[in-house]
Amino acid sequence: MNKKTVFEKAVYDSAFRVLVSKNALEKRIQQLGQQLTRDYRDKEPIIVGVLNGCFIFIADLVRAIELDLEIDFLKISSYGDAQVSSGQVTMLKDLQADIRGRHVLVVEDIVDTGLSLKFLQEKLSALKPASLKFVTLLYKKQKAKIHFEIDYIGFEIPDEFVIGYGLDHKQILRNLPAVYIMD
Ligand code: 5GP
Repeated sequence: MNKKTVFEKAVYDSAFRVLVSKNALEKRIQQLGQQLTRDYRDKEPIIVGVLNGCFIFIADLVRAIELDLEIDFLKISSYGDAQVSSGQVTMLKDLQADIRGRHVLVVEDIVDTGLSLKFLQEKLSALKPASLKFVTLLYKKQKAKIHFEIDYIGFEIPDEFVIGYGLDHKQILRNLPAVYIMD
């Protein structure tokens, strides 16, 4: 018999605990989309995804925003394959778009220590956008050390390592349909 993949164990054997279900994700993302549609009316925003973890969230989120908008991506690194932040953030892929004078909404999968957010806030605000806001799907509120409010939050979650819906464990399991806690 074939050996089971970790994906199969997660989905079929309940190897990991579901933290945010597929249904809950869909519902909350629709709500966020409606709110963003109201808040960005007549602003033609640039939606900036932070790779790699954002790719599923941003795909669902932009389809819930009923406006003209642009999409761009950047990539930063802080964790490598470790489960604990290294404390160093570096830019691996910069933006292509010129954001000066534009309304920018940055899309994060998760805010953990808040280091990435702080790095992006400083880096992007120096480029003089008309406005700069952040949306994160998941927020480890007790852990994050940030000195400004996050504008849009999908779910506040406990300080646990989570996987699925874009979030990886050693580069796999991003394709899990829900968010799971990895013990
Ligand atoms: P920060 O600590 O700077 O807020 O988060 C940096 C990055 O670490 C996130 O964008 C995400 O890629 C990764 N990360 C933080 N917490 C988790 C987690 O619980 N699970 C996974 N898979 N990645 C995480």
